[in-house]
Amino acid sequence: MTASLPKARPQPDTAPRVGFVSLGCPKALVDSEAILTQLRAEGYDIAPTYAGADLVVVNTCGFIDAAVRESLDAIAEALAENGKVIVTGCLGAKGDIVREAHPDVLAVTGPHARDEVMAHVHSHLPRPHDPYTDLVPPQGIRLTPKHYAYLKISEGCNHRCTFCIIPSLRGDLVSRPVGDVMHEAESLVRSGVKELLVISQDTSAYGVDVKYRVGFWGGRPVKTRMTELCRALGELGAWVRLHYVYPYPHVDEVVSLMSEGRILPYLDVPFQHASPRILKLMKRPASTQKNLERIRGWRAACPDITLRSTFIVGFPGETEREFEELLAFLQEAQLDRVGCFAYSPVEGARANALPDPVPEAVKEERRERFMGVQAQISRARLARKVGRVVDILVDEVKGSKAVGRSAADAPEIDGVVQVDGARGLSVGQFAKVRITAAGEHDLAARVVPRR
Ligand code: SF4
Repeated sequence: MTASLPKARPQPDTAPRVGFVSLGCPKALVDSEAILTQLRAEGYDIAPTYAGADLVVVNTCGFIDAAVRESLDAIAEALAENGKVIVTGCLGAKGDIVREAHPDVLAVTGPHARDEVMAHVHSHLPRPHDPYTDLVPPQGIRLTPKHYAYLKISEGCNHRCTFCIIPSLRGDLVSRPVGDVMHEAESLVRSGVKELLVISQDTSAYGVDVKYRVGFWGGRPVKTRMTELCRALGELGAWVRLHYVYPYPHVDEVVSLMSEGRILPYLDVPFQHASPRILKLMKRPASTQKNLERIRGWRAACPDITLRSTFIVGFPGETEREFEELLAFLQEAQLDRVGCFAYSPVEGARANALPDPVPEAVKEERRERFMGVQAQISRARLARKVGRVVDILVDEVKGSKAVGRSAADAPEIDGVVQVDGARGLSVGQFAKVRITAAGEHDLAARVVPRR
């Protein structure tokens, strides 16, 4: 056997090169180190000259007037010598100073913004995929089909619903920086995702923990707030579907985005109950009357909106009369999609200590009655769609049949549209179909031929 030298590992294309100018105090220096470390960790080279750089990051200082001047001069120099400049640091936090002086910069962030800076670097100077070092594709590993993806915008929860132990497991709300969320969403859409499913424990609370801090996406300031995030997501050209939205007043703003066609007219709002006393025992914030008013308002603003919710029946102490209040709410609210759980104690939940547990058989009987009432409502609401032409996203194709979902159907939890005449359709494609029949959960449809 002949010995041979190990084969040289093929090298990835030349790494992209980032120039770096660091101004300011030791705190700014630490920020610079964090960004440089991340750049190197991701395989970027650091260029020692403007000419050798594909892009330049300038970390600025805005402490005193002289520092502001020095920072603006450094940005001017980087623009003149290189042309592609991302500005970060304290000057970026001082309103529009940078953009007014230098409108051509690619992006501006405030201090301590490593992740936002990296998001801008990624969008202006993508890192080449190196299969030898990148064990995962740029959009990460996903368990969903290629054409839809969940987009988690925060972790934890500030509520203390008595039946839930999530806050003790995951802590209080921590919102992800809006620039990071947008960067992930862009990368998902670039990889073929057609539908983004926004999730969290409480989507309406997005940004509360960071006082709705302004972040940056594509060089533009974007508030860490549900409405602003949804507006930005709506620009990506994918369906955007909102889950776990608490019925706060500012939800009206996203309903306006829905009526403008920017995001899907779909709201998943977990109401959980309708009896004021049970809601209080659950420590849920909203009142039933307000919820009904909100539902009416949403429907007036966006008549096509699909409302989905979940409820718990048989909560400790729930009387027959309180359960009937819940049924009356269902009749009044006419929700499109509803999930219902019989209460079951979770270890560690405070509701376990409440008196008067509801016997299992009663819980189950209430759940069945509840689902019976909702089945009639869902069936009637779906029946109104027969004859309409709707857009669907195709999930499955088998010969001349396909299964898709309309704006009204979230994957896994809602119904589907069973499509005939689907030859030629492919998974992940949008198609126009005419609804031909409706059941309790699903619709049947035929493809509308393209003219
Ligand atoms: S049920 Fe939802 S809102 Fe209530 S504490 Fe749990 S995670 Fe938070």
